[in-house]
Amino acid sequence: MLEPQWLELARFVLASSAVTTRFAAGHAVCSDVPDLRRAAGFAAWKHKGQMRKGVGQIPYIHHPIEVTAILSEIGGVEDIELLQAGLLHDTIEDTETDRDELETHFGSRVCAIVLEVSDDKSLEKPVRKARQVAHAPRLSNDAQSLKLADKISNVFDVAFCKPVDWPVQRQLEYFDWASRVVAGLRGCNPALEAEFDRQLAESRSSITV
Ligand code: ZN
Repeated sequence: MLEPQWLELARFVLASSAVTTRFAAGHAVCSDVPDLRRAAGFAAWKHKGQMRKGVGQIPYIHHPIEVTAILSEIGGVEDIELLQAGLLHDTIEDTETDRDELETHFGSRVCAIVLEVSDDKSLEKPVRKARQVAHAPRLSNDAQSLKLADKISNVFDVAFCKPVDWPVQRQLEYFDWASRVVAGLRGCNPALEAEFDRQLAESRSSITV
């Protein structure tokens, strides 16, 4: 797809996603800055047809937009390349995107941050989950902030938009695992850490066993 077409897609996605995500003002951030609109369009194209796992059939692109809004609005991040990485953070892991493509369009730093937060899908899920816990302290500061924003978004979704086939026990196990990952990310962005703690407590208390 050509770049003008991503931009058109970004305009549509940014307008429609304000309806269903929590951080509506974040879309203003994404819409106002051309480099972010470009990344939003690219991500929307790559995630086209994918849905979030939870109820409500929410298009996948809402998740990276929300993660970027969390980075910007709660984390106070103004670094455009880190915000671009937020929009693109699941493209390598969950779509047919390779590192050369990201590097060509968004540069080596954005590509490197996305690679840092991407799981190796050739590994079994329990191994990938254990690696996230082990690798968290070794990530760059940028990747740590991005991972933290991702976990805030995911913990909210697991509590309030959970996948239909997830029993309570699986939700609780997800919260425990996410808090183990976040333990290794502490020190990168105090505002995001406080938001994670608040979101985790709210999510745990929303579940009745
Ligand atoms: Zn994500």
